[in-house]
Amino acid sequence: MRSGRWILALDVGGTNMVAALIHEDGGDPVGLRTRSTPADQGPAALADAAVDLLAQVRTVGTSGGIAANQIVGVGVGVPGAVDAVRGIVFLAPNLGWRDVPIRDLLQDRLELPVVVDNDANCAALGEWWTGAGRGSRLLVTATLGTGIGGGIVRDGRVLRGVSGAAGEIGHMVVQVVGGRACSCGSDGCLEAYASGTAIRARAREALADGTPSRIREIVQGGVERVTAQEVAQAAREGDELALRLIRETASFLGAGLASLVNILNPDRIVLAGGVMQAGDLLLLPVREEVRRRAFEASSEACVIAAAREPETAGVRGAALTFRREVLEGHR
Ligand SMILES: [Zn+2]
Repeated sequence: MRSGRWILALDVGGTNMVAALIHEDGGDPVGLRTRSTPADQGPAALADAAVDLLAQVRTVGTSGGIAANQIVGVGVGVPGAVDAVRGIVFLAPNLGWRDVPIRDLLQDRLELPVVVDNDANCAALGEWWTGAGRGSRLLVTATLGTGIGGGIVRDGRVLRGVSGAAGEIGHMVVQVVGGRACSCGSDGCLEAYASGTAIRARAREALADGTPSRIREIVQGGVERVTAQEVAQAAREGDELALRLIRETASFLGAGLASLVNILNPDRIVLAGGVMQAGDLLLLPVREEVRRRAFEASSEACVIAAAREPETAGVRGAALTFRREVLEGHR
């Protein structure tokens, strides 16, 4: 096994948690493990599950030849607003958390230094370090899942803003009049149109009036079971309604990204999340919409691509966050 130091990394999602060992210089994750997140059982239960998962990963690593003393600490990504300096999650709606000192909760149990950051920032940094954003000078990432997480990485550094809340791409307003309600309390946000949750809601509304669609057959009549995944499948099979839903999603996403291209002039935008299962059916019209709306020079300078290994971007980024903060002593 490689010499040098290894970092235990944990990516806590609203649905699943992913853990792995990552070498301080990058490379493939070792001992990758996933389990469901006990999201509604409180911070102590989640800490128990995390400690258990990390113990499994550590065992795989040490059986594979990594010495225990090569494992130097833990990087954690959490879905919420994080005070990274104090290691406190001050608001995580998906977990029902407010002011949870997650770093101390984990540090006491693991007896290793722990660093905590927002999951979208970790994913953005992971894409920049060893993913589809590698080598980018100004990278924007968006994860289209239950919500829309975003991150901006400039010269390898996450753009945090003055209170650590920058990069909330999902809450860019794309519909000013009569916009759909958003989870943030506002309306007309990109997340209310292009997240998995939004596509699901729009699909159900479109199906409610009895329009014939392949989607109905895929979910065997159970329209309440429709998700973005079935919409993508029906679209691939040429279903008119599903294709319309994907085209509309592309219009909103493309409009939002065009604004980002005009404002930030990034060289790369990397898209991840379950919604990207639609593949080129979504990606091609998104690129077209950005080209149509954004300044030509900015649009030409920007590559819009799908993430390559989105399921591990979070752990890779959490590990790099740890390396910088603890091993190198800066953010
Ligand atoms: Zn919003």
